[in-house]
Amino acid sequence: MAEVAVLGAGFIGLSSAYWLLRDGHRVTLFDPLGPGEAASYGNAGTFANYGCIPVNNPDVFRNLPNLLFSATSPFRIRWGYVPHLAPWLARFLLAATPKRCEASARALASLLSRAFEGYREMLAVDGLSSFVRQRECLYLYSNAASFQAAQRSLALRRSLGVRFQNIERDGIQALEPNLAPIFANGTLFGDSWFLSDPRGFLQMLHASMMSQGLRHERIAIRSLEPRSGSVRLVDESGRMHDAGHAIICTGASSRRFAQQCGDRVPLDTERGYHVRFPGTAPLISRPCGWAERGFYMVPMDGGIRAAGTVELGGYGPRKNPALLNLITTSAQEALPALQQPDSTWLGFRPSLPDGLPVVGRSSASPRAVYAFGHQHLGVTLGGVTGSVVADLVAGRACPLDLEPYSPRRF
Ligand SMILES: Cc1cc2nc3c(=O)[nH]c(=O)nc-3n(C[C@H](O)[C@H](O)[C@H](O)COP(=O)(O)OP(=O)(O)OC[C@H]3O[C@@H](n4cnc5c(N)ncnc54)[C@H](O)[C@@H]3O)c2cc1C
Repeated sequence: MAEVAVLGAGFIGLSSAYWLLRDGHRVTLFDPLGPGEAASYGNAGTFANYGCIPVNNPDVFRNLPNLLFSATSPFRIRWGYVPHLAPWLARFLLAATPKRCEASARALASLLSRAFEGYREMLAVDGLSSFVRQRECLYLYSNAASFQAAQRSLALRRSLGVRFQNIERDGIQALEPNLAPIFANGTLFGDSWFLSDPRGFLQMLHASMMSQGLRHERIAIRSLEPRSGSVRLVDESGRMHDAGHAIICTGASSRRFAQQCGDRVPLDTERGYHVRFPGTAPLISRPCGWAERGFYMVPMDGGIRAAGTVELGGYGPRKNPALLNLITTSAQEALPALQQPDSTWLGFRPSLPDGLPVVGRSSASPRAVYAFGHQHLGVTLGGVTGSVVADLVAGRACPLDLEPYSPRRF
C-alpha cells in the first residue's frame, strides 16, 4: 500500500483521506489548520444534490444590470480587483451561454448523482450521523417574475433527475409558520439534508481517522515536485517529505500547486459570507433559501446561520459591510423574530469559471492528483470526490467519466 500525502483538511481533503485509508494506504494530512477551518467552516451546510445549475447561467446576462447595481443584489464585484480578474471573468461570462451552461449542469448532475453514495458508508463512523438533519431544502421566491424566470432552470434540473415540488404561499406558511408571508412561491427539493455543524462533522471524522492511523502534520506545504516514483513536498520550514502520491485539496489556494505540476488552471474565488443569529434555530425546521437575495437561512447548532452571496474580489480578508448588512436585514425581513447577529464570517469558495471542479491527475505525473474547485458544492461533493481520488490512486476504473473535470480542459 502506498504512502499518500493529502494537502488540505476541508471537506475534500478529509473525504479523500477517508477513502484512501479505507483502501489501506498510509495517509498523512498536511494543513497548518485543524479540520474544517477554512471554506468548510462557515458554509450553509446543505447537502445540495439538486445544485446542478452553475451560478453563471443564462439568467446572469438577463439580470446583469440588476445584479451589478441593485442595492439588494447578492452579487458584487470589487472593481479594484477587475484587472486581475478579467480573464477569469471573461470565461465566467462565456460559460453562461445556454449550451455551455447545460454542459456544465450535466457534468455537475453526474457527480451529484453519486454524492450520497460518497457519504453513505462514511456516515456509519461513530457519532457522525448525529450532525445530519434529514430535511428537504426550501427555495423561496418573493417575486412572481423571478419564480417565472426560474422555470427554465427548474425544467433543466428535472430533466437531469432532480426531484422537487413547487408550492405556494399557504404551503410555505404551513411548513415554516415563522416566515413572513412575503414569499408567493417556493420549491421544495426532495432527498436533501443538511449538517447542524459542518466543522463539528469534520472534527469528528478527523478524530475517528486519527484513531485509525491518519497522521496530521500541522504545517503548510510550500512546493510540490513530482519525481520518478514519488512526489517531493517541501513544507514552510524547508523540510522535505516524499510520498508515493500527493492529493491537492487546498481549496481556493490550489492554483500554485497546479502550476508546479505543469497545469495552468484559472482558479479564483467567489467570496461568501455568513451571519449568525444565536439561539434562534427553532424558528425554522429546514434550510430556507431566499432565491433573489442569494442566501440560505439554516437552523444550525449555534442558531440560525444566514449564509451566501457572491463577491468577486480576490483573497483579501476585508469583509464587505454592505453584503453583511444585506444578509442581516434580509434574514430579519424573512424571519421577523430575528434580532441581532452575534458573529459574521467571510469564506473563499474555490471556483473555476465553468462551475466545475478539477478532479484528475496532473500533467506532470499521475502521482500528483487534483481535487479542488468545488465552488458552491464542496460539502455536497466531498464524499464522491474522495472516492474518485481513491480510484485514481489505486488505478481502478472510475464509475464516472472524468473528462469534464480535467485540469487540461481550459
Ligand atoms: C457562504 C458559503 C456557503 C456555502 N454553502 C454550501 C452548502 O450549503 N453546500 C455545499 O455543498 N457547499 C457550500 N459551500 C461551498 C463549500 O463550503 C466549499 O466548496 C468547500 O468548503 C470547499 O472545501 P475544500 O476542502 O475544497 O476547501 P477548504 O475548506 O477551503 O479547505 C482547504 C484547506 O487547505 C488548507 N491549505 C491551504 N493552503 C495550504 C498549504 N499550502 N498547505 C497545506 N494546507 C493548505 C487550508 O488551511 C484549508 O484547511 C459554501 C461556501 C460558502 C463560502
